[in-house]
Amino acid sequence: MPFLMLNRLFFCFALLLWSPAKGTAAKPVEIKKSAVEIPAEYQQRPRVRVAITRSSEAVRISSDSPFHVFDGDGHTLFQGKRLADTAVRASAQGIQLGTQKFSHPPVIVDVGDGKLRIGPRSYRDSLEFFQSEGGRLIVVNEIALDDYLKGVLPLEANPGWTAESLKAQAVVSRTYALFKMIQNRQESYAVSDDVISQVYGGMSHEKPSTTRAVDVTQGEILTYDGKIFSAYFHSTCGGSTTRADFIWPVEPHPALQGGECGFCKESQHSRWRNAWTPAEIQKALARGGHPLPDIRGIHAVDIDASGRARNFEIQYATGKIKVPSNDFRIWMGPMKFKSTLIQTIRFEGGRFIFQGRGWGHGVGLCQYGAKKMGELGYTYKQILDYYFPGARIQKLKSQADLPPAETVQGLQS
Ligand SMILES: [Zn+2]
Repeated sequence: MPFLMLNRLFFCFALLLWSPAKGTAAKPVEIKKSAVEIPAEYQQRPRVRVAITRSSEAVRISSDSPFHVFDGDGHTLFQGKRLADTAVRASAQGIQLGTQKFSHPPVIVDVGDGKLRIGPRSYRDSLEFFQSEGGRLIVVNEIALDDYLKGVLPLEANPGWTAESLKAQAVVSRTYALFKMIQNRQESYAVSDDVISQVYGGMSHEKPSTTRAVDVTQGEILTYDGKIFSAYFHSTCGGSTTRADFIWPVEPHPALQGGECGFCKESQHSRWRNAWTPAEIQKALARGGHPLPDIRGIHAVDIDASGRARNFEIQYATGKIKVPSNDFRIWMGPMKFKSTLIQTIRFEGGRFIFQGRGWGHGVGLCQYGAKKMGELGYTYKQILDYYFPGARIQKLKSQADLPPAETVQGLQS
């Protein structure tokens, strides 16, 4: 396929061009897997551990439901019919729940089918409390994967979008979460509740349309050659998606190669324009570990087949340096520096003015493209095949009573 060949050529060319800035040693970068086998324990009613607080000293919890409090070995510490508003604190001595101190965390509060309030939000199942190495309180909501998704979709997609585009999002979000659960299985939690993983608001944010999208795609995930892969998504690609391995240090993957997207032109993020002073850019680079004097110029370089810059070249008082473009986008603030698909960079009136297309990293599902495809009558399977060519939809084994795995019938077959 010409697009893939072109991509590979660009990749080789970019490698030849790449050289670290003078005085900086190239650090060995760990290349992460893009696809993994699904262990048996993740194929039956998987439960996900979501960190909902990672740096508080204390939170307040309450519940109108009967509750049990356990230690990490499953021994009941106490129980009751209703949990009144109670402070939970982390200290050097352990976890304090109300006036009771527990010196061997974790402490787990379980409400079964009820709901637990923590601050303004409500959560299903259980909350687990323990300390970070620095003594901060970590709160983990352990929950059935599909219940977690019901609290993700309303915040990661628009509940007003068509059923098919929401179903596509449900499958992508489930795949992404399960991949993270397998990848992080040695960690104390699999995902966080913010943009680093997927935004999750608990029960408080659930909406009927997104809950339906999770229910009708129950247990469905994307696989390629029988392995689950990291199914990324982003707001708006701006005309073309790109390769995962061009954005992060991950292995190349056949379903994450990027390609043309003809469906997101109407997105309000299709084009963007923003300006920064050299001093603001200097601060952003310092945040990323590159304290440079006197920023004099910026160029988008090593352009890939999608039109994205793989690197930015920064000219400063005494030299120049190349920085990975997606890192630079994050340091600059991804809400304002929306993409690495840069059309022009001009210096005018003491500011660098960037004009670009799209919002997000540009890998995998383009959400505004999926929205439009849903409106045009495409099914969620066609949407998924368009953005993840060659992938299959498989049901987790716990759904054995439902139809077996089938090939995605799509646009590119
Ligand atoms: Zn798009």
